[in-house]
Amino acid sequence: MSQTVSQSEPSQLPTADELGFDPGALREQYAAERAKRLRTDANNQYQEITGQFAHYNVDPYVEPGFTRPALHEELDVVIVGGGFGGQLAAVRLREAGITNFRIIEKAGDFGGTWYWNRYPGAQCDIEGYLYLPLLEEIGYIPKERYSFAPEIFAHAQRIGKHFNLYEKACFQTKVKEARWDEEAGRWTVTTDRGDAFKTRFMIMSSGPLNKPKLPGIPGVGNFKGHTFHTSRWDYDYTGGDTTGGLHKLHDKRVGIIGTGATAIQCIPHLGEHAQQLYVFQRTPSSVDERNNTPTNPEWAKTLKPGWQAYRNRNFTALLDGVQLEGDEVGDKWTSPLKKLGELLNSRSSDISGKEKALLAEIADFQKMNEIRDRVSTTVRDPQTAQGLKPWFSQWCKRPTFNDEYLPTFNRPNVKLMDTNGKGVDRVTEHGVVVDGVEYEVDCLIFATGFEVGTAYTRRAEFGMYGRNGEPLADAWAEGMRTFHGFLSCGFPNCFHMGLTQTGLTANFTYMLDNQAQHVAQLITQVNSCKAKSIEPTPEAEAEWVKLVAGPNMMTNYQNVCTPGYYNGEGTNEGQGFLQAIYPHGALAFYDMLARWREQGDFEGLIVK
Ligand code: NDP
Repeated sequence: MSQTVSQSEPSQLPTADELGFDPGALREQYAAERAKRLRTDANNQYQEITGQFAHYNVDPYVEPGFTRPALHEELDVVIVGGGFGGQLAAVRLREAGITNFRIIEKAGDFGGTWYWNRYPGAQCDIEGYLYLPLLEEIGYIPKERYSFAPEIFAHAQRIGKHFNLYEKACFQTKVKEARWDEEAGRWTVTTDRGDAFKTRFMIMSSGPLNKPKLPGIPGVGNFKGHTFHTSRWDYDYTGGDTTGGLHKLHDKRVGIIGTGATAIQCIPHLGEHAQQLYVFQRTPSSVDERNNTPTNPEWAKTLKPGWQAYRNRNFTALLDGVQLEGDEVGDKWTSPLKKLGELLNSRSSDISGKEKALLAEIADFQKMNEIRDRVSTTVRDPQTAQGLKPWFSQWCKRPTFNDEYLPTFNRPNVKLMDTNGKGVDRVTEHGVVVDGVEYEVDCLIFATGFEVGTAYTRRAEFGMYGRNGEPLADAWAEGMRTFHGFLSCGFPNCFHMGLTQTGLTANFTYMLDNQAQHVAQLITQVNSCKAKSIEPTPEAEAEWVKLVAGPNMMTNYQNVCTPGYYNGEGTNEGQGFLQAIYPHGALAFYDMLARWREQGDFEGLIVK
């Protein structure tokens, strides 16, 4: 697995003595930790929230009993999903003069992931000045550098009001079916509210984090105490709100399963208030510094028009691995890449590709050593500290950023239940079993994430039928098939947004806005040539699928990573989050789309 530079080649690599650690030993340790976690059931290990588990998916934020008259409308566009993706699509359509559209959203309001995720401490890890969309258009500056969930949810509502999107929205409404009518050149979209929309175009933006999942642990349905998923936080039970203050837990024994990005943020609040907290861990997260600060109004005054797009472009370029002079954001997201820059700068320019790759690995080791050192210097109990150290490369799992998580393990009422990569044995009526020992709890919280890794068609939660009634689930049975990540053969005029074979970057809202602008402009182009439908040629689609399935800058990296949704739970079958993506980086993808549009000939599409 490990690469080495041959002894006969002059090497520009630092020695283990110079580095203060042995890269070979770390490689071996990472491989051993990966091996512990590999399992043959991969994504099938998770329990879908249906049947006896359906209550985990109920919307706790709406009053029961909502009704409204059914709608029967002729539309230009139906947008599925009212998260930032759906809102951005709507805003960009409006800008392009397309106003006859509806947004269908299963939740009771806009916000998407920020509607659902109201757990204590919920915060965006991407700087708010980048993440909150349309700041300049609306004239809003986030209160802090890293925004908490209520501010982000309020911003989604602000976008809804500012761009008059509420009048277009059908909330608490689930699409039941979308069916293409070839003769009419329309989709018929039906919903669980009895609506029937006839629409020329569909934009699918139902999001990757829309459906919670449970671990498929034996007995997971047997627990008789109180239980909920973090994305449906039960404040009636815990007390408090998203800022914390979970006072009703003072006499409760609480267990939490999962230690991903969500758990890192809510565990400090649970630790502060629960009588006893057990943190059941399978794989520790990498937890870097947060260092949040209030926005300086003087700084905000200095921002020049176009600043948000400029800042986003700079951040995205750096994450794409482009070596730039200026780092506008300068936070921990780009720090591993800076380490590589430093290593490269102190070497001559004729460094070989192989040596450069090894230096990149060394920079990553250095970064992760810092993360592990932070654990050692913060957590007092050496065994707990050892358990909290992540033994994998920086981008194997979603990096997290928090200043309260690690100190929480110094509290006497908080216990890390490390399962050495195996997960808990089983759940019982009264608690959780680890290594044959039952830990009784009153409340069991699942911080076990979302259906990111399962089939897109399963996550969309409705049937889509294209030409000749072909189900999308069949067309995509072997995996997603798109052209440019948007359009699919046999499913005319239906655009997909989100993580669909696209140019992926850490700031999703920037990715979504680029996608939304592309879709709106493409629909405008179709309208201006009075065409009825567009869809990819089979050849263009096949070529795109081949391109995204081929190697990208993360392929080799992910292949040796500890399992997670980034690499299809370690299967490396090309369906992981960081696997089927545009190989040349996000900015190159957006630029390619712009050039393709300018060309104006719909290359790769059939336009009728
Ligand atoms: P994740 O999927 O990231 O984490 C799920 C956790 O559950 C992991 O720790 C996983 O362990 C654990 N788990 C799963 N099965 C078992 C089992 N059988 N036994 C024990 N543990 C188990 O979900 P999150 O909700 O934490 O985050 C989802 C995504 O949401 C993030 O990756 C991120 O993209 C996004 N997010 C973003 C935030 C932001 O700041 N913008 C904040 C919070 C979330 P293992 O690692 O071993 O699989």
